[in-house]
Amino acid sequence: MDLTRYFDNAASTPCDPRVIEEMLPFLHLNPGNPHSIHAFGRYAESAVEQARQRIAELIGAEDPSQIIFTSGATESNHLVLHSFGERVVTSLVEHSSVREMAQRNNLKSFGQLGSKTLVESIGADQVASLIAVSNEVGTMLAPEAYRELRPGRLHLDATQLVGKFQLDGLNFDFLSGSGHKFYGPKGIGFLYAQDPTELTPLGVGGGQENGLRSGTLNVPGIVGMGCAASIAIEEMASDLDHAQQLRSIVCEELASVSDLRINGGSEVSPYILSISVQGVEAETLLLELDAAGFAVSAGAACSSRDTGNNPVLEAMGLEPDWIRGTLRISFGRFNSRDAAQALGRTLRHVIENTRALRR
Ligand code: PMP
Repeated sequence: MDLTRYFDNAASTPCDPRVIEEMLPFLHLNPGNPHSIHAFGRYAESAVEQARQRIAELIGAEDPSQIIFTSGATESNHLVLHSFGERVVTSLVEHSSVREMAQRNNLKSFGQLGSKTLVESIGADQVASLIAVSNEVGTMLAPEAYRELRPGRLHLDATQLVGKFQLDGLNFDFLSGSGHKFYGPKGIGFLYAQDPTELTPLGVGGGQENGLRSGTLNVPGIVGMGCAASIAIEEMASDLDHAQQLRSIVCEELASVSDLRINGGSEVSPYILSISVQGVEAETLLLELDAAGFAVSAGAACSSRDTGNNPVLEAMGLEPDWIRGTLRISFGRFNSRDAAQALGRTLRHVIENTRALRR
């Protein structure tokens, strides 16, 4: 498998080799539990606290104690929703971890990101839980919307934003992130809380993370995510530039294809390219690209096995015909420009050939 052809970075990024190197000692040489008082434990604890500081620096948190380690953004999102219950308001275009939890608990969900209905629906005593960058189409929550939302509280599901964009200037009360979306390991994430005492834990037990998240800390994962955060601080600008170039290359290759639309609007993350083509099913495209060694996704990975039904794209007003032909290409640090060109060219040929066969 050729990593340069892996264009499913929104589903999960590869672990950076520098991250793996920092994690390795914590998988064998130092098995210490950070809550043990012996030297192994103390060493693990200091590594965890260093990682907490690195995450705080990445997102511009005032104090590392505002960072709570979790198993990933799903759990971070649930921690906020659980803590504020009926006071939470969400949009209709959230990640499934928020959308389905909101449905299950009969929470209020309105409109799209930045839409007037959504903004007007958020009262001063409410907590808006909103996706900062759509994992499906890359739409970014507009900065004006953040400011308009300020009367209420704001939880950002920033899983597709963290490590990729500067967060300074954004006003938020809570923020979720996942290590494996910015070249850290899977199964580790964090929640930032401006005031962690407002949170109610999902479970009880050992009382780790100031009682907010019981369970032995995933030390190798935390160390890896911390390292990924430091790399992101250094390389964010060049990574972004790289993603922009890759996206343009693929778009240029597809420019001549008829009945093709690019989703996500004008404020879109360069890391995600969502296209819809008419008359060709996304699954066909995905399998043809797979056969050529390219990994892409038919929508979000969590829903990619069910390509006919996509509540987020429906809420965005995409007709079923277009939804069936929706493909997500997502870019990352390890893609090459040559691979992006080859992907665009192959995709163009597959669309044209499939349409020709159907005529
Ligand atoms: N929110 C968004 C926007 C995501 O893209 C994802 C991952 N697809 C999640 C939450 C959940 O992250 P995880 O699977 O790491 O818990």
